Amino acid sequence: VKAELARSDKLRTISALAAGVSHEVRNPITVTRGFISLLKQPDLSDDKKNVYTALALEELDRAKQIITDYLAFARPSPQQLEALHLEEELSYVKQVLQPLASLNQIELTVRIEDALLWGDRVQLRQAFINLLKNAIEAVQPYGKVEAHSTVRGNQVCIVIQDNGAGMAPEDVQRIGEPFFTTKEGGTGLGMMVVFAVVKSFRGTVDLQSEPGRGSRFTVTLPLHKREDL
Ligand code: ADP
Ligand code: MG
Repeated sequence: VKAELARSDKLRTISALAAGVSHEVRNPITVTRGFISLLKQPDLSDDKKNVYTALALEELDRAKQIITDYLAFARPSPQQLEALHLEEELSYVKQVLQPLASLNQIELTVRIEDALLWGDRVQLRQAFINLLKNAIEAVQPYGKVEAHSTVRGNQVCIVIQDNGAGMAPEDVQRIGEPFFTTKEGGTGLGMMVVFAVVKSFRGTVDLQSEPGRGSRFTVTLPLHKREDL
C-alpha cells in the first residue's frame, strides 16, 4: 500500500511537471531558432557567427539536459523495494562523482556508518548523486565536500556539507521548486528529485546555508524494519 501511495504521488508530480518541461524546453528552442536565422544574414562577421553558434549550442544543451533530468525522474521504471546498505550505495555514488571532483581539484570525503534502509536502489543513488553534484558545483573551483552519516536510534542522518557559495535566504525558500536554478545551464530539477526520493523513503531533508560560507544538507532516513518486508 505504501508503494502504491508513493507511486500515485509520483504520477501526480510527473504530470504536473510535463507542462513545465514543455515550457522550459520551448524557450531554448525558440532562442536557438532565432540565432540560426541570424546566421543567414549575408555579410555577418566571423566573430558574430561564432557568438551566435556558441549561444545556439548552449541553449540546445540546456534543452537536452532538462529532458534528461526529467526522464531520469519520470521514466517508467517500477519502484523495486529492497533492503539497501547505505555504505555500499554511497561508495557507489562517490565513485561516480570522483572524476568530476578531481577534475576541479575538489576534496571529496565520504565517511559512512553503515545502515540498512528499505527502498529503491536507483532512486537512493540518484538522490545522493544530485546532492553531491550540487555541492561540488557550489565549491568550484577548489573547495571541500564532505558526506558523513550517523545512526541514531531507528534512523540514520546523512550530512552533506560544502564550503562553497552558500545560498541566500530567499533561494533557500525556493530549493526543490521545479526549474528553480541559479546556474547557467542548470535545470532546477535535481533537488525536486531529492525531495521526492527522500519522501518515498519516509525521510526528511533539512538545509542550513550561509552565503559565502557553504551549505549543509541533512537527510534523515528511517532504518529498515522487519515489517517492511
Ligand atoms: P540545478 O543544479 O540544475 O541548478 P538543483 O535542483 O539541483 O538544480 O538545484 C537548484 C538550485 O539550488 C541551484 O541552482 C543552486 O542555486 C541551489 N543549490 C543547491 N545545492 C546547493 C549547494 N550545495 N550550495 C549552494 N547552492 C545550492
Ligand atoms: Mg543540481
